[in-house]
Amino acid sequence: AQRILLAARPKGEPTPADFRLEDVELAEPSQGQVLLRVLYLSLDPYMRGRMSTAKSYAKPVEIGEVMEGGTVAQVIASRDPAYQAGDIVLAYAGWQTHALASPKQIVRKLDPTQAPVSTALGVYGMPGFTAWSGLREIGKPKAGETLVVAAASGAVGSVVGQIAKLHGARAVGIAGGPDKCAYVRDELGFDVAIDHRAPDFAGQLKQACPDGIDVYFENVGGAVWDAVWPLLNTYARVPLCGLIASYNDDGSNKGENDRLPALMRSVLTRSITLRGFIQSEFVRSYPEFLKEMGGWLRDGSMRYREDIVEGLASAPDAFIGLLKGRNFGKLLVHLGDP
Ligand code: NDP
Repeated sequence: AQRILLAARPKGEPTPADFRLEDVELAEPSQGQVLLRVLYLSLDPYMRGRMSTAKSYAKPVEIGEVMEGGTVAQVIASRDPAYQAGDIVLAYAGWQTHALASPKQIVRKLDPTQAPVSTALGVYGMPGFTAWSGLREIGKPKAGETLVVAAASGAVGSVVGQIAKLHGARAVGIAGGPDKCAYVRDELGFDVAIDHRAPDFAGQLKQACPDGIDVYFENVGGAVWDAVWPLLNTYARVPLCGLIASYNDDGSNKGENDRLPALMRSVLTRSITLRGFIQSEFVRSYPEFLKEMGGWLRDGSMRYREDIVEGLASAPDAFIGLLKGRNFGKLLVHLGDP
């Protein structure tokens, strides 16, 4: 078996040297444990936070520990009566080919006849739930309103725009490069897609939102936020989900604080609701999410795209690329088949 440990805390952008791949002996499960063989490992932006000791909502991975991560895995041996060899589960097994897991690390059993099991890490799992719950609890898009979301071809953003459309809102997607923009517009059905790398990005966004912005689902921060913020309408809602543009910052760039008074003034004078959230706080509505999303997936009203890389050794490079927009769709590492 193989696993990837955190070897060093990155300074700025992570590098391959911050990770270490090692071979280990397969262990036998003890009473109450199951032995898992990982089929898919999910790579997600939050993992950058786990590599750092900066104060956050979850504790960091320690140096020499296995990198954390959500996985779809198959039970290959079980000493827990609730699981049998062959079961496929969603589990926090981390960056490794095999894992000894306690039932506590297993989220749920998966039924491969319901949906492709990989979707439990994307559209039909945590990222999809993030989009669904952030809109339901905070964004609340209504028919005729304008919603904007960045990282629009990605795991969360793609679902945000499609749900907005299902509610009758106008969806404007922001993505990096012409291929992602074409996908967002032509395949996901957003009304407009804008490339945030275009030189006149802010002008294009303004033109795409003639009635201003009612809901801005914030995934990115940085230059995208700078272009969005002046367009926010009175009573705009901003679910603050992520700030990926600054995840590799080490805190030395304090220049952005200069905009704080102006920002606070606009939040006040335009009665803007800006609300940060971590999806787990809404976990009570997860069954409802599974039901509604399951329906949309079955009737074809929710589309998704996966970006699958092969083999555990590819994980560090793929993760480094995720923080720079190299992924196109939900990023997964494929380790094996059932
Ligand atoms: P994606 O699949 O969207 O992949 C990340 C994308 O971010 C990249 O492909 C890239 O897309 C975009 N990006 C990266 N750097 C920049 C930049 N400097 N400026 C603009 N865009 C950039 O990832 P997810 O859907 O998994 O996550 C999206 C966001 O949601 C992240 O911020 C993540 O941390 C957050 N999140 C928050 C959760 C919560 O509970 N609050 C839960 C899950 C995710 P492009 O090429 O289009 O620019």
